[in-house]
Amino acid sequence: MIEFRRVSKTYNGAVKADALNDVSLSIGEGEFVFIIGDSGAGKSTMIKLLMGEEKASSGSVLVDGINVGKLKNWQLPRYRRHFGVIFQDFRLLQNYTVYDNVAFAQRVVGASRKRIQKRVPKILADVGLETKQKSFPAQLSGGEQQRVALARAVVNGPQYLLADEPTGNLDPANSEEVMRLLESFNRSGTTVIVVTHDVAMVDQFRKRVVTMKEGQIVSDIREGGYDNA
Ligand code: ADP
Repeated sequence: MIEFRRVSKTYNGAVKADALNDVSLSIGEGEFVFIIGDSGAGKSTMIKLLMGEEKASSGSVLVDGINVGKLKNWQLPRYRRHFGVIFQDFRLLQNYTVYDNVAFAQRVVGASRKRIQKRVPKILADVGLETKQKSFPAQLSGGEQQRVALARAVVNGPQYLLADEPTGNLDPANSEEVMRLLESFNRSGTTVIVVTHDVAMVDQFRKRVVTMKEGQIVSDIREGGYDNA
């Protein structure tokens, strides 16, 4: 369960920026939620607060009862294992094969060699890339690269999958493919949060939609069309 409780965030740089203003939001176990809104609305700030990359100026962010803003730096790496994350620009290791990109995520958490050898091919098959294990990212299409990123994000079985503009660099067919995979990981129990500008995608996949504007939630519409905001 993810809870934003009256969260505000002001960045105190050369110019002060109010990124979030009194945001409250609950996302339950197993949900699939789109967060949409124009550039500057505060979407990335919400992701950064969730991941413990920034701290709220007031209010609290709770993940399974953990107050994220109170975690010490040394606690963050383990905390972040709750999340798999994918980005618009894939962020794959270019000098690693597809297999090693995914295996790397398992090595970081200390998985045994035996477990890695079993788990990596299985997850690559789940995203339809069993024949590409020895390829390098540059040899793949954008859609294939995003599927490698997705395999890497879920290989350790995170509770939450955060996708930050996952279809921003993809054509409609590949976007749909990636969304279908997010849906299928959601069906097997992962809570999925997709931050996007892609209104066509949001219309096509009928899920909960949280709309942000100027640091506030302006609507929160459930699959059935009921507005909670
Ligand atoms: P979105 O992801 O919806 O585009 P952001 O969360 O990135 O929105 O930004 C919300 C506001 O906070 C914007 O006004 C942006 O300029 C500002 N902002 C974001 N990150 C920083 C930062 N590191 N320092 C200063 N201002 C920032």
